[in-house]
Amino acid sequence: MIYLDYAADTPAAREVLDVFSDTALRYAANPNSLHTPGRQAGARLAECTEQIKTLLNLKNSDVIYTSGATEANNLALKGVAEKYRNSGKHIIATYLEHSSVNGALAALQNSGFEIDYVDSGSDGLVDLEQLKALLRKDTILVSACYVDSEMGVTQKIHDIAAILSGYPGCRFHVDATQAVGKVPLSLDGADLFTFSPHKFYGLNGSGILIKKEELLLEPQIHGGLSATPYRSGTPALALAAACAKALELALAELAPRCEHVSGLNKKLRAALTKYPKVKINSTAYSVPHILSVSMPGVKTEDFRDELDAYGVCVSTRSACCAPNSVSRPVYAVTKDRKRAVSTLRVSLSHLTTEQDVDEFLACFEKCYDKFAG
Ligand code: PMP
Repeated sequence: MIYLDYAADTPAAREVLDVFSDTALRYAANPNSLHTPGRQAGARLAECTEQIKTLLNLKNSDVIYTSGATEANNLALKGVAEKYRNSGKHIIATYLEHSSVNGALAALQNSGFEIDYVDSGSDGLVDLEQLKALLRKDTILVSACYVDSEMGVTQKIHDIAAILSGYPGCRFHVDATQAVGKVPLSLDGADLFTFSPHKFYGLNGSGILIKKEELLLEPQIHGGLSATPYRSGTPALALAAACAKALELALAELAPRCEHVSGLNKKLRAALTKYPKVKINSTAYSVPHILSVSMPGVKTEDFRDELDAYGVCVSTRSACCAPNSVSRPVYAVTKDRKRAVSTLRVSLSHLTTEQDVDEFLACFEKCYDKFAG
């Protein structure tokens, strides 16, 4: 099998699984219990939290453990909006957001918030002039993804933060799920950001929301003491330890992994560009591990299924999107509906070999001849 869907999920690293099982076996107590094993588990959880903060160079920040980036994004957006609703009800987001951000914003809209979306240019970058024009005195939140999950465009987070610094009542949330553990990044200007270890060889079912200490959130899950007041439930110590380990491993190998993946991406781009019907959606600002293409007029669901029959796994879109839907990010950037309904996303890893890419290209050719030739 040739797995080229690493933006959707990555296989857990052996070391991460070892840390998970060691921690689960060694600390068989609730980290909030006040007996000796409970205190030991609590101390180990605090250690994991410190490790995550150190690895990400965070000061004066809270680490909130959740069940995934979907929950973390929901908590970030609803938590801020509900806490600060007396200061305003206006929120701005980009068109490139993941469905977990869009879904949370839709829920907020239903409860009386006003949501505006800021456009992107053909390079995928948010239109900063339009952002300035959309900002209002009652804007309480701006949400932007660091790297979008479909085209992999990396936003200029510092430029957005610099604009928002003129709006002290406005908080800045960054969905960094496709960036953390994958590319070098700086999140200094963000008030909150989210990520998910299963994107960088950690475990599914855990996610992280980082927020500045002084920022308050309205909890979305109530009842039960936890690691922070913002998300109830018995802390999942083994998952926290696994997250810290996955982050440690991913960051230690970041540069060589990026270099390896960049080489594969160049090869793929060069090969795919030769097909007349293929349009490359990923831009000059896209990360090397995500390559989105469109084939206008081609039913890429069939194309994907045929590749699957050859043992090659890619996505048409982000795995979290409704099947057969229009790609909102691709439409936002290309303004071309035919392109937005015919996308195919190939996502790479340091585990991907040249041979994988060659075999993918050989299968692609056969599928192209069948569906697009
Ligand atoms: N945000 C982005 C940008 C993502 O790519 C994903 C995963 N597809 C999520 C959020 C949701 O992450 P999780 O699977 O951990 O809920």
